[in-house]
Amino acid sequence: MRAVVVTRPGGPEVLRYCRIPDPVPGPGEVLVRTEAIGVNFRDVYVRTGAYPAELPVPGLEGAGVVVDAGHGGEFAVGDRVAWSYGRAGYAELVAVPVAQCVLVPDGIDRTIAGGAILQGVTAHYLLESVYRPEPGEAILIHAGAGGMGQLLVQWAAARGARVITTVSTDEKEKAAWEAGAWQVLRYGAELAESVRELTGGEGVAAVYDGVGAATFEASLTSLRPRGMLVSFGSASGRVPPLDLQRLAELGSLSITRPLLPHFVHTHAEVLWRANAVFAAIADGTLRVRLGGTYPLADAARAHRDIESRATTGSLVLLPE
Ligand code: NDP
Repeated sequence: MRAVVVTRPGGPEVLRYCRIPDPVPGPGEVLVRTEAIGVNFRDVYVRTGAYPAELPVPGLEGAGVVVDAGHGGEFAVGDRVAWSYGRAGYAELVAVPVAQCVLVPDGIDRTIAGGAILQGVTAHYLLESVYRPEPGEAILIHAGAGGMGQLLVQWAAARGARVITTVSTDEKEKAAWEAGAWQVLRYGAELAESVRELTGGEGVAAVYDGVGAATFEASLTSLRPRGMLVSFGSASGRVPPLDLQRLAELGSLSITRPLLPHFVHTHAEVLWRANAVFAAIADGTLRVRLGGTYPLADAARAHRDIESRATTGSLVLLPE
């Protein structure tokens, strides 16, 4: 099969499109011919060596058709499935753990299923299992035009939260308004002050921060007393060490650093979250914005685009 491999950490140029042996599904796995493969910022961390990961083939999520059902009997050859937490995903064939697979309902576009399942499931666990905003509550979601940001803003707004979000350009601002943001701000030294002004001096109940180092301080100081910082990523770099005493001084704040695999621990949990995502897409609560589709062979261009902050929405690789 053809796949994208990384044999040493580095820039986008280390992503090489080549032929490698087909994967053989192990116990509890099915073999899937991919139709759409999601590109996530995490794939950049893996490529650069910032995150330890099983290589040479990067990529976690995708959608496709089962070509070998393995021995479990849960899925049949020909089933259309998607998964948010697999491995070796940038490839024409992927051996996916049955426990991570879900059937893609009729009516859900395969490109959307493969490109947004991971971000959708993550948005679900962040808003459902980490901090559940109340209707009317003000929250801050960083990078509201990004893949994660678009889904988080839409879902939180649909639940009645007043969503303040950050963006870096006019085009991204437009995407954030379209997603249902209540207020859209630019990053910068006055960010926390602007958040306080918008919330009558109080601050927000929660901040969802996937940007990391560049926004961490503003995130902390935007919170109301007893607010929660959900630090779920570090697109701008790792968050520096924190003196816990500051959480007390800033108002008995909470901080958490959640990670997807701990929220898709059982097949029941995978099904719950993924089916909620598909239902939200089907009823129009979530409109997945595809920021770019690329041939699988062009994975390096997709990485360049996401890393340079040039993209909005979710990015997808399409095998030829
Ligand atoms: P995005 O499409 O959101 O791309 C990253 C965005 O971050 C950019 O578009 C940019 O938006 C913003 N950004 C701000 N500063 C920088 C910077 N210095 N370099 C690059 N981008 C910057 O990516 P994803 O949706 O794939 O992921 C978003 C975050 O969510 C990542 O940190 C990722 O690791 C995290 N994540 C975490 C998961 C978890 O379980 N913990 C699961 C899935 C994703 P702008 O230009 O508007 O600032």
